[in-house]
Amino acid sequence: MKLTVIPPKDPWYADGLSFTCTCCGNCCTGGPGFVWMSDEEIDRLAEHLGLSRDETFKQYCRKLGQKVSLKEKLSPQGNYDCIFLEEIPAKKEKGKVALSRRVCGIYPVRPLQCRTWPFWDGNLASKQLWDEAAKRCPGMNDGRHYTQERIEALRDAPDWPDKPPTSGGRK
Ligand code: SF4
Ligand code: SF4
Repeated sequence: MKLTVIPPKDPWYADGLSFTCTCCGNCCTGGPGFVWMSDEEIDRLAEHLGLSRDETFKQYCRKLGQKVSLKEKLSPQGNYDCIFLEEIPAKKEKGKVALSRRVCGIYPVRPLQCRTWPFWDGNLASKQLWDEAAKRCPGMNDGRHYTQERIEALRDAPDWPDKPPTSGGRK
């Protein structure tokens, strides 16, 4: 009997997607959330901060069951900011609207979860879910083009040191 191989159906993002982070900081704040850290990422963070692993854990991490997340800090507006979210005040320039930026204070060692946003499984599950996420992330559907191959490499990345799957902007 001859088997008919059915080619896999193209995903809805087969023509690629656009994303460039605008440094609005929305994805690093809001309601309570989690920024998961692997053992390796905690070690890299400790090295980056010049602290021991124990001190890094005590100051910046929290244990949730078997997993570890970064801590959060409550902003004056009542938002749960990632402990490493930093506000860069706007530079006043004549004739221009000054906007402050919110950036990652540990950008070189930010964890995989942050590096691979917005190409997460949940966002890629459907165009509707992608567009829903884009309501809070002005960088989505704009800027740099990502091919399907690159999107899936980011979505499936197991870690980042050798070939950082950085997505181009702050995230
Ligand atoms: S990834 Fe999106 S939500 Fe996060 S800071 Fe960049 S533009 Fe804002
Ligand atoms: S990008 Fe940086 S500030 Fe934002 S959630 Fe990740 S670690 Fe925290």
